[in-house]
Amino acid sequence: MPLRMNSTPTLSGWTMSQNILVINSGSSSVKFSLFDMTHQTETASGLAERLGSDAAALTLRWADGEYRQALHDSDYATVLTQIIAVLTEQQLLHHLPKVIGHRVVHGGEVFSDPVIVTDEVLASIRQCIALAPLHNPANLAGIEALATLYPDIPQVAVFDTAFHQSLAPKAFLYAVPYKLYEQQGVRRYGFHGVSHQYVAAEAATRLGISAQHGIISAHLGNGCSACAVANGQSMDTTMGMTPLEGLVMGTRSGDVDPGLHQFLYQQKGWDVETVTNMLNKESGMLGLSGLSNDMRTLEAAANEGVERAQLALAVFCFRLARHIGGLATALTRLDALVFTGGIGENSRFIRATVIENLAIFGFRLDNELNARNGDMLGVISTGPGPKVVVIETKEELMIARAALALI
Ligand code: AMP
Repeated sequence: MPLRMNSTPTLSGWTMSQNILVINSGSSSVKFSLFDMTHQTETASGLAERLGSDAAALTLRWADGEYRQALHDSDYATVLTQIIAVLTEQQLLHHLPKVIGHRVVHGGEVFSDPVIVTDEVLASIRQCIALAPLHNPANLAGIEALATLYPDIPQVAVFDTAFHQSLAPKAFLYAVPYKLYEQQGVRRYGFHGVSHQYVAAEAATRLGISAQHGIISAHLGNGCSACAVANGQSMDTTMGMTPLEGLVMGTRSGDVDPGLHQFLYQQKGWDVETVTNMLNKESGMLGLSGLSNDMRTLEAAANEGVERAQLALAVFCFRLARHIGGLATALTRLDALVFTGGIGENSRFIRATVIENLAIFGFRLDNELNARNGDMLGVISTGPGPKVVVIETKEELMIARAALALI
């Protein structure tokens, strides 16, 4: 049943609440979550996807219901108005949100913390477009549309890169001419910061090592990165200037020899755009397996004996273990390895294989705990060595908390 478009509710007709809306606007999708911060719970979440195509649709899920409708107009203002209209019609939103939190991919060297959106902040996010040409314009469009629709609701920007601003130059510089860093900002920034910060803090609390700790977190979803955290600060991470560097991911290659560009140009006549597209969209698990970017599908295929799926899994796990080994050099102690993200939270096979590849660190996996994704604390290891923990990431809740804390 398609909804009628509501006119935009205004603050005068509504009362403020502890509802916080979290928005993650991409180039062809808008993800959203509504939180009741009085109880720190998620009231509803949803996705407007395939924007700009005939298949554009809005899906909303809440505790005991689901709603789906086609979207005929895909501009951000219409989609965001519709999201608030649907939340209202489904009786999930009774008051306008107190604040809207936005996930913003790239904050460059400008942002090391969440900020309330002002004209100056918008200008700085705009300046970072060159560093994230696909993501920042979409993030900006979402913020600007909501600022126009609801000028009285404060908006907060939370950056994927911010947590990694604590990296020292020795960790963030590439060994290319220094002026490229000074003039173009060519350096490693890192991403998934909200997730790494949350799961590391959560692991430290659960394990009772809040004051002093060394933790490595592995965020393994469709995008994958790992991070070394010392006493709550990011020391090093696997993604770089863009999210392409580092681990093998669903469709992204992770590290390759930079000489590959020239080789493919000479051998196949591929220009930079073709190679970049191949590395971002046709590589990783999809490229290696020739089958899928989805870990569940690949594990099932590997179990049935499909060799290329087995090979892709082996590369994924070895590369990850190799990077975890490298990240350990940024720490002076190692208390825990944390797995998170769709793969990290659910795949006992990946966790077991990575731990097997990390024998040198003395992790001792408890197979029974690993099979059920951890005990009450999420621990899947045994013995006196460093712990291995599975922690569900809560990026949206973290954005909601950061937004609330700022107003
Ligand atoms: P995310 O981007 O965090 O939603 O993670 C998506 C990835 O998690 C996909 O590759 C899924 O196949 C993978 N995933 C989700 N559940 C499982 C599972 N039970 N076993 C293996 N992989 C899973």
